[in-house]
Amino acid sequence: MQLQNKVAIVTGAKQGIGFGIASALAKEGYQIVVSDLKQADCETAAAAITKLGVKTLAVACDVSKKNEVGNLISQTIKEFGQLDILVNNAGIYPYVSFLDMTETDWDKVMAVNLKSVFLCSKAAVKEMKAGGKIVNISSIASFIGFEGLAHYCASKGGINSLTRALALELANKKININSIAPGAIETPGASGGMTEETKKETIALIPWGRLGTPDDIAQSVVFLASNKADYITGQVLVVDGGWTLR
Ligand code: NAP
Repeated sequence: MQLQNKVAIVTGAKQGIGFGIASALAKEGYQIVVSDLKQADCETAAAAITKLGVKTLAVACDVSKKNEVGNLISQTIKEFGQLDILVNNAGIYPYVSFLDMTETDWDKVMAVNLKSVFLCSKAAVKEMKAGGKIVNISSIASFIGFEGLAHYCASKGGINSLTRALALELANKKININSIAPGAIETPGASGGMTEETKKETIALIPWGRLGTPDDIAQSVVFLASNKADYITGQVLVVDGGWTLR
């Protein structure tokens, strides 16, 4: 592995897709800022990533809070002096039927999943130079409906729209912003809501015949974060084993 003189922040990185992304970027030689809700979790994940041979920084940040996002970016600049890649991965998907959904439920999902992309991107862009990359983790729920996830589907649709609008505004700064829309990925968060039976039912919907892994998503992030994706902006890349093809 060749070390790159590039720094990547990954939010929601203590486990699941975020940890997979942070690990894959580290294997490409990026220095990694590992961020999640709790400092102890960030430090544990950062320690594991440091073993891959890169420098890491652990910074707790609730991505829905402007002051914590400001601290995440300023700690990054203080430690590394630069910011090249932002991966907006942190997200929640609490199942609740529309009729039982409260305004609080709605606001929380919108704040963690969508407002966070606004807050983190805005703070990050101020520090990024030409060649900077933002990758948002959306979902196939931005294209198809899922019962019990009306707020989540809306938040992820919002990410796709924000990606396109921001891509236009960031083009003159030569900063790329793209999204990835995963299908069903085996993570601590997703597995919690899945019985063996629902897992089988889900796999039956996927032409590829299996659930996705965090690394399936991470490799797409590696591509979109690299110079190979310099001419790609405002796009949503579906990584779902073919689920949404039919
Ligand atoms: P996960 O296993 O639940 O991990 C998400 C991480 O984000 C957790 O460590 C969580 O901390 C953290 N987090 C939650 N709220 C946060 C906040 N306000 N600020 C900072 N961090 C926060 O989830 P995942 O399945 O890996 O999902 C990661 C992303 O992929 C999400 O955006 C999700 O919507 C998207 N996605 C996942 C799937 C899938 O099938 N897994 C499919 C499509 C899209 P706590 O554990 O302490 O809450």
